[in-house]
Amino acid sequence: AVGESQQIPLTYFDHNIAGSVQLAQAMQRAGVFNLVFSSSATVYGESNSSPYQEDMQLGLPNNNYGHTKLIVEQLLEKLSIADKHWSIALLRYFNPVGAHKSGRIGEDPLGIPNNLMPYLTQVAVGRREKLSIFGNDYPTQDGTCERDFIHVVDLAKAHVLAVENRIKSQGCRAWNIGTGQPISVLQIKSTFEKINNISINSEFVSRRAGDLPSFYANALRANIELGWTPKYTLEDMLADSWNWQ
Ligand code: UDP
Repeated sequence: AVGESQQIPLTYFDHNIAGSVQLAQAMQRAGVFNLVFSSSATVYGESNSSPYQEDMQLGLPNNNYGHTKLIVEQLLEKLSIADKHWSIALLRYFNPVGAHKSGRIGEDPLGIPNNLMPYLTQVAVGRREKLSIFGNDYPTQDGTCERDFIHVVDLAKAHVLAVENRIKSQGCRAWNIGTGQPISVLQIKSTFEKINNISINSEFVSRRAGDLPSFYANALRANIELGWTPKYTLEDMLADSWNWQ
């Protein structure tokens, strides 16, 4: 969690960086060299702009969580150059949402949710009073931020394809996992209301520090190299999130 990583940085350095190094050491001892790393689109930093492409020069993320993801990507890349046994996939997640169709697996964050989707579904279920929409004066189509939301089941399928790809290859390769479609916060709210036939209490509040106006992927590389195509629509993501909640 981005906010938490600012409050307890050493815990994040320890779990994410030291933890990844220890995992790779254990893998090496066990003779296992194929790894899929759950990275984040935040590694593109603030100086690039959408759509983000894997070969862009990575920037410095403005928070400790993102910084640990960038460092681990760099360490894994160096590891795969030094030791040719390794085959590593770096999956750069955009904004995963939704839940499994069964409704048995979903997202229930501890405490007050930071992310948009769990907050929205908790308002819908009556656990929170209203959704605060952070900023409506961004240079976007409706003034609210745009993000690239991806269904968790599509995300999971990308991992299976990444493992299959890595078993046949060597080195380190990054793939964006997003749909490539920018969707605004207001679009999320209105589509959620329509598809689930429920109204969401909300208000516009000031911008949240560190939010970029528009953040979405160029998702071509995963399509060409992994044969991955996201198949769930925005409506699926919002219906499945609500079904789970
Ligand atoms: N957002 C919002 N209200 C909330 C939580 C998030 O308006 O209670 C907005 C946030 O400003 C951002 C978008 O929703 O533009 C997605 O935020 P989230 O924290 O889910 O993911 P991020 O893109 O920051 O990783």
